[in-house]
Amino acid sequence: MAEANYNPYENAQKQFDDIAESLNLDAGMREFLRQPMMELHFTIPVKMDDGTTKTFNAFRMKHNTARGPAKGGIRFHPHETADTVRALATWMTWKCATVDIPLGGGKGGIICDPPSLSQNELERLCRGYVRKIWTQIGHEMDIPAPDVGSNAQCMLWMMDEYETITAGHYPGVITGKPVGMGGSLGRKEATGYGCIYVLKDLLRVINCPIGSTTASIQGFGNVAEHAAHMYTNLGGKVIAVSCWNQADSKAYTFKKADGCDISELTEIKDQYGSIDKDKAIALGYEMLPGDAWISQDVDILIPCALENQITPSVFPSISKQVKIILEGANGPTTPDCDPLIKDRGIILLPDFLANAGGVTCSYFEQVQNNMNYYWGKDEVLEKLEYAMVKAFRAVYDVAQEKNVYMRDAAYIIAINRVADAVKLRGWL
Ligand code: NAD
Repeated sequence: MAEANYNPYENAQKQFDDIAESLNLDAGMREFLRQPMMELHFTIPVKMDDGTTKTFNAFRMKHNTARGPAKGGIRFHPHETADTVRALATWMTWKCATVDIPLGGGKGGIICDPPSLSQNELERLCRGYVRKIWTQIGHEMDIPAPDVGSNAQCMLWMMDEYETITAGHYPGVITGKPVGMGGSLGRKEATGYGCIYVLKDLLRVINCPIGSTTASIQGFGNVAEHAAHMYTNLGGKVIAVSCWNQADSKAYTFKKADGCDISELTEIKDQYGSIDKDKAIALGYEMLPGDAWISQDVDILIPCALENQITPSVFPSISKQVKIILEGANGPTTPDCDPLIKDRGIILLPDFLANAGGVTCSYFEQVQNNMNYYWGKDEVLEKLEYAMVKAFRAVYDVAQEKNVYMRDAAYIIAINRVADAVKLRGWL
């Protein structure tokens, strides 16, 4: 479980401060880059199916737009906070800069519990969100996308509301739309596949055949499922998968020592990424506590659920066999755990490099929307792999040259790019 005493925004600021210090960034630039440029906090009244009205609290934030319009998902979660949105918006700035796409960092959130809402209530909530922020979004200003708890249908309702208000066709206002309605082929796979493109290149560089590796994964939602599919298709073996169970309000780890069948698990999961425990047991999976994924004897840990999962208190339970941590989720490792990971010699592929496939494909979606011409899936995935491998190699080279941890190398590249853009624009 996430440890409640970690604040993701403080984590994001600490990571930034450490690198800003090593880069000798001046005080004015540090003050500017360590917080969002704009924050919207608002309420959305929604008529519920039973005739009552419920008011939802929501956010949209732009961390930095020096390199292009803000870009970032909208998270629908009961524990969403302003600080989580601030952190995620900050990480989006660094992510877009690391993969070198012409976008800045943004993020949104709605404090809500999607499984408890009917489809009609969810639609009214999505449309209400857009009615509050439509003057602040657009392909030239800020482009939302899905995140935890929201999906392609939510994005389409949001796009439709925007187009209804503005009386035009602006599919590039939002990404992660359904294919055929302005969405890009490959978008749903992009984040998970992107993680594995980066992992594959790292394994090539360190001369380790992917077919000889094993992994344990936290989460079985959009990112984890596609990462697991590509990883196993390339010959890797997933030993354990942990996910949340709505009915029991707790997480479980499903394990098969000789390797999980990812297609089989996909068939028995619901739309929120929860694996049906009875069906899993019937298929021969061992069911362990939710946090057991982290203590498995595997080569690679792939956290793909939430932030603050790898902390100093759980670190000792990580097997000595683990050589790589591939961060599919945003902020799964707390800053005070980074030195422990570094000391043990575990290679960490940092979140804003590893999971940048989603935003890269969202950028491709927007490019296709603006051209009104759509690429085939192979073309999208080929462009995605090229972008991810290029970004990985740049980060890896800086890590080697400067003898720094891979997260620090990615920060050095991203912060320098954003600070240069701020300076070139004459903002500071
Ligand atoms: P999702 O909602 O599709 O899936 C989340 C998964 O995490 C589900 O399987 C859920 O059961 C599991 N989970 C939740 N709490 C858990 C717990 N305590 N223990 C174990 N499992 C738990 O979300 P997603 O889109 O796959 O996103 C996952 C992470 O990746 C988030 O941090 C998100 O910000 C990040 N991310 C997503 C994308 C994207 O394109 N979807 C892009 C970049 C980063």
